[in-house]
Amino acid sequence: MRYGIIHSIETCGTVDGPGLRFVVFTQGCLMRCLYCHNRDTWDMETDKSRKITVDELMQQVIQYRFYLKATGGGVTASGGESLLQPEFIRDWFVACKAYGIHTCLDTNGYARHYDKTLEELLDHTDLVMLDLKQLDNEIHKKLVGVPNNRTLMFAEHLQKRNQLTRIRYVIVPGYSDDDHSAHLLGQYIAPMDNIEKVELLPYHELGAHKWALCGDTYQLEGVHPPPKETVEHIADIIKSYGKEVMH
Ligand code: SF4
Repeated sequence: MRYGIIHSIETCGTVDGPGLRFVVFTQGCLMRCLYCHNRDTWDMETDKSRKITVDELMQQVIQYRFYLKATGGGVTASGGESLLQPEFIRDWFVACKAYGIHTCLDTNGYARHYDKTLEELLDHTDLVMLDLKQLDNEIHKKLVGVPNNRTLMFAEHLQKRNQLTRIRYVIVPGYSDDDHSAHLLGQYIAPMDNIEKVELLPYHELGAHKWALCGDTYQLEGVHPPPKETVEHIADIIKSYGKEVMH
């Protein structure tokens, strides 16, 4: 029986897709965002992670399905990076769709293989929420620890598939709160008709304590959430490229 390695489950999530969400946070991520608020999900296995089969997961999801549907919600695969366990997420989403449950893939786009598994996963995904962290590759490398080429390849794959996608953009002071970065994002997504909207997420420090628990130094110490005016200004820039923005 195939199993996934997960960090945790949230049964009534309100920020990971439309309506109320049953959210599974998978273990493992190959990015190293300076602001990561889930630092404890980076390794594939930890002493707190656990294995779960799709059947075990569905026994829980089914209990919530009418509640989720009534709110216009569903399930969300988040992380960590859920695309690092594509077979597990595919099988879970196939099982959810058999019950008519809305599925959402929350991802940084770090797909390793463009194969049948990924296509089947996307075929059973109602909404992709894709993090585009920074279009300027040099800043991306500083902010995220890896280049942005894999994420952009994934974004363009979604465009070719005409896959309904919401872009998530974290506004990090000093890294992605400037006009140039916002224009780069707006220009990049302007021709992508599959994008339903852009969600702006102001940087916050809530996950900083997890870095210390993992024995790491939080490098954004002293960086504070951006002011409301900055968020609104970035929203206006992205809107000028014809995209709906929520924040
Ligand atoms: S992609 Fe997400 S989980 Fe991975 S390091 Fe960045 S914020 Fe953390």
